[in-house]
Amino acid sequence: MKRIFSWKMNTAFMVLVLVMCAFLLSGCADPKQSAAENRDLFAMDTYMTLTAYGPQASSALDAAEDEIKALDQLLSTGNPESEISKLNHDGKSILSDVSAYLLQRSLEVNAITDGAFNPLIYPLMNSWGFTNREFTVPDEGTISEQLQLLDLQDMHFDETTKQVSFDQPGMMIDFGGIAKGYTSSRIMEIFAEQGLTSGLVSLGGNVQVLGTKPDGSSYKVAIRDPEHDQTFLGIVEACDEAVITSGGYERFFEDHGVIYHHILDPKTGYPADQDLISVTIVSSDGTLADGLSTALYVLGVAKGSEVWKAHSDLFDVIFLTEDHKLYVSDGLRDEFTSNGYPVEYITAEIDHT
Ligand code: ADP
Ligand code: MG
Repeated sequence: MKRIFSWKMNTAFMVLVLVMCAFLLSGCADPKQSAAENRDLFAMDTYMTLTAYGPQASSALDAAEDEIKALDQLLSTGNPESEISKLNHDGKSILSDVSAYLLQRSLEVNAITDGAFNPLIYPLMNSWGFTNREFTVPDEGTISEQLQLLDLQDMHFDETTKQVSFDQPGMMIDFGGIAKGYTSSRIMEIFAEQGLTSGLVSLGGNVQVLGTKPDGSSYKVAIRDPEHDQTFLGIVEACDEAVITSGGYERFFEDHGVIYHHILDPKTGYPADQDLISVTIVSSDGTLADGLSTALYVLGVAKGSEVWKAHSDLFDVIFLTEDHKLYVSDGLRDEFTSNGYPVEYITAEIDHT
């Protein structure tokens, strides 16, 4: 009797376990959890697509859209009312938390890239006409004058009071090389705060993903191939990461048969003239990834690889060179698949001394 009872108990337990499993499995496949909701918008001079999964998708997308608009208002150099425009006009200001954070991160990227990223690039961008699309090749005199305005020693920034001031008239800040990466990481934070475990954002060439896809597999982020419009140069398998690409092909003009693009080398004042078509950074830190994609495009493969070797715990990198090769940092060996380009891996040198 006792045995029958315990057999019944065991059976009941097994059935309970099976029902729980079925319940959990059906939970994973719950159409409410896995249904994607998309939102397209234009802000920060870029077409953006946001995708959110789960029952809170709509409210998460609303909150993300509000944040994008607020950041655009705050940071846009094209809007004379923005905080950054006012700072650039007045030469001094007490910054909001967001702008102070972006300035501090910009200085961090500047420091680790030997000055290749410079947040004071705005006057030079202006001289080339990238800010108002009245493109022109500045004369040598103008370029050497503008180069004087890039000296970070002439900017005073107190991280505690958030007070910033410029010593020289005409010095101006431009967060164009870092703001979209910050925005994508903020969107991921908002998604998580709203209870989402999966989502993605694409801001132009910049992609950042939250978690995995609802089915548990990693997101497959295709990196655009600037040379071939309809295809991609490879795929990164990403989870909780940003995949951010910079290249001269994004914005440029032609003058007397020469192409001039919008990523400027702060050492020369001219568009970065390296061996590169594009640089892609993969990192869990979207702000850093954006800043570095611009900076490593300026530095080129050799110097850029050195930056990776010194900070391989923070990011990975894919360089596409003009001779159509990919140089890929070792950390991406299992996560990156080339779409037909030959790949050479960059490995950290082991110091045997
Ligand atoms: P995009 O914004 O086109 O995706 P990037 O992230 O590389 O590409 O940012 C390019 C922008 O960064 C330029 O439009 C300009 O605002 C700014 N910028 C250009 N050169 C530099 C530089 N050397 N350091 C910091 N910012 C730069
Ligand atoms: Mg950038």
